[in-house]
Amino acid sequence: MSSITLKNLNKAYPNGFLSVKNVSLFIEDGEFVTFHGPSGCGKSTILRMIGGLEEITSGEIYLGDVLLNEVLPRDRRLAMAFQNYALYHGLNVYENISLGLTLRDFPKNIIDTRVNSAVEFLKISHILNKKIRSITEAEKQKTALARAIVCHPSVFLVDEDFSRGNPRRRAEMLRDVLRINQELKITTLYITNDYQEAVNLKKRIVFMKDGEIIPEEEYLS
Ligand code: ADP
Ligand code: MG
Repeated sequence: MSSITLKNLNKAYPNGFLSVKNVSLFIEDGEFVTFHGPSGCGKSTILRMIGGLEEITSGEIYLGDVLLNEVLPRDRRLAMAFQNYALYHGLNVYENISLGLTLRDFPKNIIDTRVNSAVEFLKISHILNKKIRSITEAEKQKTALARAIVCHPSVFLVDEDFSRGNPRRRAEMLRDVLRINQELKITTLYITNDYQEAVNLKKRIVFMKDGEIIPEEEYLS
């Protein structure tokens, strides 16, 4: 069960600023949900709390019926794509993709099988031995996506800074993320501050403003 439930979620920073205010939301197992709202409205804070990178001030986050609040980030079975790929440039593609499994002490044959199916899915099998510094930006993006799926996550969290700048690369990233959601059946939370992009995805959109979820009518007015 890979549904996500947020119950009265709040985030207060030490200076007293509330960046997420009483957010409650249910995301179905296998659903693709787009979070949209202006810069600073709290989208990344929600994703970071789900991912365990940000402490929860109050409220609850469930994966299926498991309360995630006290589960360590590495045990949450989530994959995250943030910050322009964050790959290790001195390592090759295989080493980057397999790192999470190596750190979790998976046996070599299982790591190989999983890496192979991830790179076949993303059509980058031919670059496994190349160093990151010698591959194209498009290949880096696919390497980062392969690294995300190789741990067989239940939920995939994609922030808008994962792929920025180049519209063609962003469109390709979106096609891959949609394929990951549809074919691998991974519940996906996708952030964008681009309204047209959110609409074009034709998925459920969660509209946010000033730390709160608001109805679409209110967002558009
Ligand atoms: P979004 O991803 O929607 O652009 P964020 O979730 O990154 O927004 O940020 C929400 C709000 O929280 C912003 O107004 C930001 O300035 C504020 N914020 C982020 N980090 C801190 C912090 N450490 N202290 C105080 N305010 C913060
Ligand atoms: Mg953000």
